[in-house]
Amino acid sequence: MKQSVKLVAGNWKMNGLGASLAEAETLERALKTQAAACRVALCPPATLIERMARALAGGAVEIGGQDCHAASSGAYTGSVSAEMVRDAGATLVILGHSERRAGFGETDADVAAKVEAALAAGLEPIVCIGETLQEREAGQAVEVVSRQVAGSLPASLAGKAFAVAYEPVWAIGTGLTPTLEQIEEVHAAVRAAMVAKLGEGGRTAPILYGGSVKPSNAAEILAVPEVGGALVGGASLKADDFLGIIRAA
Ligand code: PGA
Repeated sequence: MKQSVKLVAGNWKMNGLGASLAEAETLERALKTQAAACRVALCPPATLIERMARALAGGAVEIGGQDCHAASSGAYTGSVSAEMVRDAGATLVILGHSERRAGFGETDADVAAKVEAALAAGLEPIVCIGETLQEREAGQAVEVVSRQVAGSLPASLAGKAFAVAYEPVWAIGTGLTPTLEQIEEVHAAVRAAMVAKLGEGGRTAPILYGGSVKPSNAAEILAVPEVGGALVGGASLKADDFLGIIRAA
């Protein structure tokens, strides 16, 4: 099966002050000495996007946001639009992360609207999906992610640069990961749902795995069929840990 180049993206979540730029610069320096075989991205909090994009301009590390509003401007106190994220220097944006779905009530339809906004602003969306522990234990993982793909990916994604990230909610920040067989099963189902929704346009976008990825498990996870990269939370905060994952890709 035709696979695009792997993407390893770091999600800093609500961590990192200006001082954290040093970690990003260490990463950039290391990638200058030994180029990565994959694409590398860091998604810092919105307040750091501009400084990070400036500090790493022209380098190997791409910068992403962690969310955007679906509207382009207006009376949405506390929010930033896709165009603002782009204007700050980001080229990617994480959308529909389970922490947004669970903590901010985002539905598949909300995520799809944000994806449309991101595309209109010229951002490459990383659309997150994943089942809860309860859904996994009820044997519904494949059904849940298939439904999320159908609802969160607008038809306009066909032919555009984007990624899907499969992140089982119960694996995020817990140190737990699915078995390699479970990852393979879900990624195959996600691919099928992408093709069902987008036709040929759903065949090549990478499907990242996320949830407790670390240097010690990255190589085996990234070798699973249809795993096109990783979305990394905790282990992306330290340049050395993140580099360990990048080297495994
Ligand atoms: P984790 O988070 O790597 O800390 O488990 C992943 C994520 O939420 O994207």
